[in-house]
Amino acid sequence: MTIDRVDVLDYGFVRLCDHMGSDLSIVRAARVSYDAAWRAGEDEKGDERLIRYLWAHHHTSPFEAVTFTFEVKAPIFVFRQWHRHRTQSYNELSARYRELSEEFYIPEVPAIGTQSTNNKQGRSTDDPTILTQRAKEVGDYKYQCKQAFYLYKRLLNQGWPRELARAVLPVSTYSHMFSTMNLLNLFRFLSLRIDSHAQYEIRVYAIAMLQLIRPVVPTAVDAWVRNAGLDIPV
Ligand SMILES: Cc1cc2nc3c(=O)[nH]c(=O)nc-3n(C[C@H](O)[C@H](O)[C@H](O)COP(=O)(O)OP(=O)(O)OC[C@H]3O[C@@H](n4cnc5c(N)ncnc54)[C@H](O)[C@@H]3O)c2cc1C
Repeated sequence: MTIDRVDVLDYGFVRLCDHMGSDLSIVRAARVSYDAAWRAGEDEKGDERLIRYLWAHHHTSPFEAVTFTFEVKAPIFVFRQWHRHRTQSYNELSARYRELSEEFYIPEVPAIGTQSTNNKQGRSTDDPTILTQRAKEVGDYKYQCKQAFYLYKRLLNQGWPRELARAVLPVSTYSHMFSTMNLLNLFRFLSLRIDSHAQYEIRVYAIAMLQLIRPVVPTAVDAWVRNAGLDIPV
């Protein structure tokens, strides 16, 4: 059975809502270069070879013939990173229109770690001796988020506009969006966001997206994985 949704983090998920095209769409787009006859998929081995050749030689425009729309629920700080990718088209829940649900991301204790000493942006999760301490601190983190939601609801009850009351909420609060992109831009996103330098909380979304598109464009994904230089099973 093909899955269309992967649960991510504590309240998040990625769903593949729509897609247009397949490996064959890439082949058809490429073969117009030499005005080849319409292909219905009668030469699977030849098509696979062509897709691998195209990707390996940076002949990327045929990969734009395939399009995906994902529904995503993720913490706001993940969306801050995600929305830097300008080649995706977004529609997001508006906290001006409606009150936000009390759902905020709580990291799992072993995934917290410490500030990395060799990567200014990253974290290190190598030290097991801090786990007990982190387990206590995550309680403080949760308390602070709950307090923020308590104030948010109180301000709303006192008549504050939603568009201002939301400003007291933490960036761990979950939001919800649809994002549409072509396969080439999706591969670019995955290359940056599956990479070990990307934050864990966005990497898990990128890995889920890869899992969802693999059945739709298996040969293209395989060609990308082989060239991506990332630690992903081929
Ligand atoms: C590990 C990591 C750390 C990061 N740290 C920071 C940080 O500290 N601060 C920060 O601000 N950002 C940071 N970023 C975001 C990063 O700088 C990019 O904004 C983000 O990864 C989107 O990449 P992109 O521009 O290639 O993607 P897209 O916006 O999807 O663009 C795809 C490609 O289209 C082309 N393109 C799109 N728009 C333009 C344009 N206007 N002009 C020219 N070419 C264009 C470029 O070739 C680009 O590579 C980080 C990203 C990563 C992965």
